Amino acid sequence: MEIKVNKEKCTGCKICVDVCPVGAIEVDNDGKPFITEKCNLCRLCVKECPEGAIETTGEEKKKADIDFSQYKGIWFFAEQKNGKLSHVAYELLGISLKLAETLKEEVCGVVFASNGKEMAQELFNRGCEKVYLVEKENLDEFRQDIYVCLMTELIKKYKPNIVLASATMIGRSFIPQTAARIKTGLTADCTDLAIDPETKLLQQIRPTYGGNLMAKIICEYHRPQMATIRPKAVEEAKIIGNRAGVIVKEDYVSFNATCRVDLVSKEAVEQTIDLQEAEIIVSGGRGLGDGKNFDMIRKLASLIGGAVGASRAAVDSGWIPYPHQVGQTGKTVKPKIYIACGISGAIQHLAGMSTSDYIIAINKDPDAPIFKVANLGIVGDIFEVIPKLIQKLESQKQ
Ligand SMILES: Cc1cc2nc3c(=O)[nH]c(=O)nc-3n(C[C@H](O)[C@H](O)[C@H](O)COP(=O)(O)OP(=O)(O)OC[C@H]3O[C@@H](n4cnc5c(N)ncnc54)[C@H](O)[C@@H]3O)c2cc1C
Repeated sequence: MEIKVNKEKCTGCKICVDVCPVGAIEVDNDGKPFITEKCNLCRLCVKECPEGAIETTGEEKKKADIDFSQYKGIWFFAEQKNGKLSHVAYELLGISLKLAETLKEEVCGVVFASNGKEMAQELFNRGCEKVYLVEKENLDEFRQDIYVCLMTELIKKYKPNIVLASATMIGRSFIPQTAARIKTGLTADCTDLAIDPETKLLQQIRPTYGGNLMAKIICEYHRPQMATIRPKAVEEAKIIGNRAGVIVKEDYVSFNATCRVDLVSKEAVEQTIDLQEAEIIVSGGRGLGDGKNFDMIRKLASLIGGAVGASRAAVDSGWIPYPHQVGQTGKTVKPKIYIACGISGAIQHLAGMSTSDYIIAINKDPDAPIFKVANLGIVGDIFEVIPKLIQKLESQKQ
């Protein structure tokens, strides 16, 4: 497809130049716009031109040759570890229930496990209506080929409207391959989802252009609509009570699943604290002034059983490695307590931590934006406040 300006129809109003999100429209000597190679074919200019002077040529995107009305239900992949549901399963259930409020479609979990009935019950207790369950010995162990095969066949058989997975190592591995097999689109790493009240399409929301814009992506032409969601970006579904639900049990043998990988043995690797799992995080920013001052942050974190986070400024200064970065281009976290030390609270940092349950900020500038999201703000010098805190905690421990 190509986008062209019909110069005869064009009045030179330049609205297209202003609306183009990637600056791909320039103006020639006659005051008429032309499209440059920066164009990403988003067609916003085609939509906004009041004269209809911007036209598309060549092949248009085509709707897949399938009956969309057959596709019903909001599915989420309920990830588990060693036979126990992971928190991301509850997060996906939470956002699915929210989508169902507008879409009015059934919310269904998909569980692959050696023994999944208890997991299904846990999902029912939080509002899930149906669970598609495939059971087999060792199915708790993630295998790319097997999971892709099972999910693909289930989608083909039951035709869900929406399929969600978490953007974990597992979700990021097998969901794109599944989407490719089904020949549908996939938006990876969403931070939120919504349903367009008019079109009922899934709006897949995620940062783009290096985090400077939030994009709303839709899948107009194919089904199901598929997305992965960043862990901790959405709220977990809460326990409602002991509820009944429907288990649709699928016979593993019927899938004819084969795997190119054999599990020979398992070896435990040294576990570093996972920021996204931590219940307490103590983060340091540029206010620390030097990498060695992170020792103070580590000490405080260890005294209260927390993990160490950082702002991008601290990471970019080389004071702490990137895996500790919290924010739009770092990790999204949602601990019970987040302590921001010498962090100003730039929008990109807030994007990764503002949904924490309780935020404590220590900053010497009373106007620092971090105080707008803090539940407890301490206006003071971190080099005075933190050592006092450490001293107090140490004396309490003794
Ligand atoms: C596309 C993009 C993506 C980004 N992604 C991220 C991201 O993922 N995460 C992220 O954090 N940032 C990100 N940023 C950068 C972000 O805009 C900020 O520059 C960064 O968060 C600032 O870090 P900071 O708060 O540590 O530093 P500063 O903004 O410099 O703030 C330092 C703070 O420390 C306080 N302070 C100084 N000395 C003391 C003291 N002795 N005691 C108490 N307080 C003190 C100051 O008052 C100040 O408020 C991104 C930026 C862009 C453009």
